[in-house]
Amino acid sequence: MTSTTAAAPEVAPFQLFDLTVVRTRRLGPSILRITLGGPGSGGFRGGGRDQSLSLLLPRPGQREAVVPAAGGGTWHERWRALPEDVRAVLRSYAVRAERPRPDGSTEVDVDFVLHGDGGPASRWARAAAPGDRITVAGPAVADNTAVRFRPPADTDWVLIRADETALSAAAAVLEWLPAGLQARVWLEVPCTEDRQALNTAAKARIRWLVRNEGAACGVEAVRAAELPAGTPYVWIAGEASGVRALRHHLVQERGFAPERVTSTTYWTR
Ligand SMILES: Cc1cc2nc3c(=O)[nH]c(=O)nc-3n(C[C@H](O)[C@H](O)[C@H](O)COP(=O)(O)OP(=O)(O)OC[C@H]3O[C@@H](n4cnc5c(N)ncnc54)[C@H](O)[C@@H]3O)c2cc1C
Repeated sequence: MTSTTAAAPEVAPFQLFDLTVVRTRRLGPSILRITLGGPGSGGFRGGGRDQSLSLLLPRPGQREAVVPAAGGGTWHERWRALPEDVRAVLRSYAVRAERPRPDGSTEVDVDFVLHGDGGPASRWARAAAPGDRITVAGPAVADNTAVRFRPPADTDWVLIRADETALSAAAAVLEWLPAGLQARVWLEVPCTEDRQALNTAAKARIRWLVRNEGAACGVEAVRAAELPAGTPYVWIAGEASGVRALRHHLVQERGFAPERVTSTTYWTR
């Protein structure tokens, strides 16, 4: 007699989750934390660090976002198959923290910059209240391509630079760093009160660059800094021109290997 074991079904790395706003909390003048969860959050499983997800948001004039129905293919293929002028608007956000709960659901914290120019995501966040619903395309397996912070094994020290949109990703990265690893960190925020307490076991030197205090921008601050010896890994995220300028400085002027610099544009002016 032979016995066979059925192979475990492969889990799609990203799935649509119908989430509910659990609570909101102002972290500072520019940043609002929205905790999402509810019964639709079961199976949400991120990889920490700069894990990101996509919000599916209503277009101007729509009361609800038009999201893909369940079906074959990936969620993104099903979203693309919807008419362009009605399908939900997509916006990327970092997972600041996730907490599995005893009932099988997961609480997911997302920190929104409330920028003056509005936009579907910022508008939605400003109005969000407990009980509101939102569909997100999020991770269902921890090792997924929306985790970009991946220091090679031979990394001696890390350099992190984030603006306010990437602050929550940087904070989650700091929590993930191994104890004792040397880290030089520059964080740009609009206001003094946007600074946050950060947890890390790394040997991190964190410098806040507060715009309303007249601080230098990230590239100027890094240019003026004496950086550690050894093999670096760099993670830069935020507004496009700041990201580009710092990457250029590190690769072209300091001679860092381009493959050791992970730079991501989070928004453009
Ligand atoms: C991987 C990834 C992770 C991200 N994580 C976060 C996060 O955790 N928190 C977060 O707040 N943002 C995050 N962002 C950035 C966020 O997706 C953008 O800021 C996005 O443009 C906001 O969408 P919106 O609908 O509010 O505005 P949009 O419709 O995209 O833009 C409307 C107008 O607002 C301007 N604008 C957009 N963002 C800003 C801003 N921050 N400040 C000033 N003006 C702005 C645009 O130039 C445009 O003129 C992330 C982006 C990426 C790619």
